[in-house]
Amino acid sequence: MSHDPQWIHTAIRKIEADFQRSADTHLIKLDIPSLDGIDIYLKDESTHPTGSLKHRLARSLFLFALCNGWIGKDTPIIESSSGSTAVSEAYFARLLGLPFIAVVPRKTARKKIEQIEFYGGRAHLVDSPSEIYEESRRLAKELNGHYMDQFTYAERATDWRGNNNIANSIFDQMKLEEHPIPSWVVMSPGTGGTSATIGRYIRYQMHSTKLCVVDPENSVFHQYYKTRDASLTGECGSRIEGIGRPRVEPSFIPDVIDEMRTIPDAASIATVHWLEKLLGRKAGASTGTNLYGVLQLASEMKARGESGSIVTLLCDSGERYLDTYFNTAWIKDNIGDISGYLAQLEQLEQTGQLS
Ligand SMILES: *Cc1c(COP(=O)(O)O)cnc(C)c1O
Repeated sequence: MSHDPQWIHTAIRKIEADFQRSADTHLIKLDIPSLDGIDIYLKDESTHPTGSLKHRLARSLFLFALCNGWIGKDTPIIESSSGSTAVSEAYFARLLGLPFIAVVPRKTARKKIEQIEFYGGRAHLVDSPSEIYEESRRLAKELNGHYMDQFTYAERATDWRGNNNIANSIFDQMKLEEHPIPSWVVMSPGTGGTSATIGRYIRYQMHSTKLCVVDPENSVFHQYYKTRDASLTGECGSRIEGIGRPRVEPSFIPDVIDEMRTIPDAASIATVHWLEKLLGRKAGASTGTNLYGVLQLASEMKARGESGSIVTLLCDSGERYLDTYFNTAWIKDNIGDISGYLAQLEQLEQTGQLS
């Protein structure tokens, strides 16, 4: 079916105009004196209009679908999401005047569902995280809509060679730092799209930077990285919203990754609480996963007497998770005791060593 070209032109112009009015996100340098000689940076993706790095992905997915001729004037947009992507896509669907339905797991943060609805979208709840794909496909067929399918298209909808993608922006913002070419970039995978973009960009620019990908518990990505068994599945969903998947997503590209680590969920949660003291701001739990991985690498570099820089992402704000990751009772019931990791992080502040 071919769509009205005039409408497509207008739609692309609206998205590009929205981009033209936007500013880039900040690269924040952390102040950790005990890690003298090792500089740590957070790319703050929480300041996008829709609150997370998924703003970039949603923009790319809409442009990709428009240029492919997949959506037109009245096409309902359907997406499977653990929340953040749906919030950002609801924003762009509203910009184009298209109906939007997000298929999300029932346990998704209330705040995210409210934000999907705030942007005029509808949340369609399913019981298990592994149901979202089939239900999205079914709905798209029933409504004659388009299933955006972030988990398939994230890695190819983004311009990996540059065009102000996230890697391009990071390396540009690092230019005047003491160690402008990072020793490591650390990222956690949801779709795997961001780590694919960063890994490809590093190779294309011929940098010596290594990419470390950090996985939460209850995710199949790390196991897949080791075995390359694409049929792996998990029963329960990840407890760290935005990252860790119960199946190997097509957008996860293992061969651009230099190293993978699994970070305990309790360490991720402890790290966002520790970061709040350092930054005066709350971050989402995946930022804790990222930063704990960074601190492991930094303390290993310190032990080897190396200096350099490490960059990771602040993926979204913790304000979305006040009733979970920032609620003591919820942590105790769902994650357990985080005091051991908090003590470890305090020790890092004293000695520059994590363990
Ligand atoms: C999606 C997401 C990630 C992971 O990014 P991908 O590019 O999908 O791998 C990390 N943190 C949060 C909060 C996210 O929403």
